[in-house]
Amino acid sequence: MEKFSVPFEVIDCHIHPHYYTNCFGVVNDEETFFDDLRRAGVSRACGSVIKKVEFESDWSDIEYCNNTAMDYFKRYPDFYIPGIQVHASYVEESCREIEKRHAQGVRWVGELVNYCMRTGRYASRGMMQIFELCRDLGMTIDLHNDKDISEIEPVLKAFPTLNVVVAHPHDFDGAKSRFEYVSKFPNAYMDIAGNGLQRYGMLRWAVDCCGQDKILFGSDYPLTNVSMYIQGVMYERLTDDERRAIFSENFLRLTGLNK
Ligand SMILES: [Zn+2]
Repeated sequence: MEKFSVPFEVIDCHIHPHYYTNCFGVVNDEETFFDDLRRAGVSRACGSVIKKVEFESDWSDIEYCNNTAMDYFKRYPDFYIPGIQVHASYVEESCREIEKRHAQGVRWVGELVNYCMRTGRYASRGMMQIFELCRDLGMTIDLHNDKDISEIEPVLKAFPTLNVVVAHPHDFDGAKSRFEYVSKFPNAYMDIAGNGLQRYGMLRWAVDCCGQDKILFGSDYPLTNVSMYIQGVMYERLTDDERRAIFSENFLRLTGLNK
């Protein structure tokens, strides 16, 4: 199928590899997964493997997600950038995992999706210890947050040099207040995955509110149509500089990864 041409490098910071069952069943295997991203014009994509658990996940679930992510990294080194999972009830294991993966080139933790993997509150003692190590190693964390963004505040305040990416702008006034919130903390960022970008003008408003350096391109593919997100950024009234920052430069600056 024809590839969509996008005149920018696009790094999607919010995908979930190995999650092949979007509800319309059009992404059912690895080949389609990566082919669709490339076809949309994505140059590289980053994110965590997630696994839905009914109660609390245990360490073997985290290991499974991270091993799977690292396996994709091995097979798609020029395209996939792994994000790893951690667990508040397994602090020692999580810290060992972060150190091991950091030595293998990993610079991204998340998206952490607590409602899905039940790995503990972000401000819990265990998670704060884990985030302290992320700060020391210069890892960026990407946190799913449903409604009340202030649950992230203890993390932002305790570790002012830790880069914290909040996932999903949300809709209408929700997006406004979330971007306003992010603009107050020098170490807070927002990825534009999921709900929000379909509201025309949200991104122009967000750049005016926070500055172009605070916003990262993300889609939540394969749960969303990644091409729609790219075209959403292209169509908003932004300068090329602003588009470059959102599409790739902010991600590269935060992670220290090469162009
Ligand atoms: Zn997600």
